[in-house]
Amino acid sequence: MQILFLGAPGAGKGTQCKRLARHLALPHLSSGDLLREAVKAATPAGLAAKSYMDKGILVPDPILIDMFREKLYTPECSKGFILDGFPRNVAQARNLDGLLEELNRKLSAVINMQVDDRLLSERITGRRVCSNKECNAPYHIKFAPPKADSACDLCGASIIRRSDDREDLVVQRLKTYNEETAPLIEYYDKRLLLRTVDGDGDPDEIFADLLRTLQVLA
Ligand code: AMP
Repeated sequence: MQILFLGAPGAGKGTQCKRLARHLALPHLSSGDLLREAVKAATPAGLAAKSYMDKGILVPDPILIDMFREKLYTPECSKGFILDGFPRNVAQARNLDGLLEELNRKLSAVINMQVDDRLLSERITGRRVCSNKECNAPYHIKFAPPKADSACDLCGASIIRRSDDREDLVVQRLKTYNEETAPLIEYYDKRLLLRTVDGDGDPDEIFADLLRTLQVLA
């Protein structure tokens, strides 16, 4: 299966993608995670991407396209994959179409995680994540706090806040999403691939809904 997720920052797609990836034993390719790793490792792509990420705007398309081209050709993606955060605009979506054609693959579905705009800001600013890259467990100070004050329930590593989850960047990130990424909803709807999942509610129920939506395709 080749599944693509759309959703505004804070819609919860990262959490659901991770869960779905474990459930289907497919790799979860998160553009944000890949970029943050590249920034941390100070690769040329990471160095070029950092200033855009710090402003909450999109990193230039060629960086993402090269990154995903390299990933999709790896053996771990041969049974399928879950795309999270790429494509983020129509130009990237067209590039992905070409890449999938080269690989002789088709998207199985595009999931649009729908959450009311008013909830997104509170979700983003309260978001925390385990600092251990291998674990990466998601938390929220109000909706899903860790049991111990600032240690991960799963691995004990410290819980951190992403540098771009600050109040002052949230408005820009939502604007970028609405202007550049939201047109992809129509792009994939026209191709009859779009499935909408309500992202507001209990994460277990959202996951069950997601599985029901995908089973329809099986
Ligand atoms: P995310 O973790 O998905 O919220 O992404 C964090 C940041 O990485 C975004 O605010 C963008 O600056 C950058 N980014 C992630 N995915 C893409 C993409 N497909 N195209 C351009 N920039 C991206």
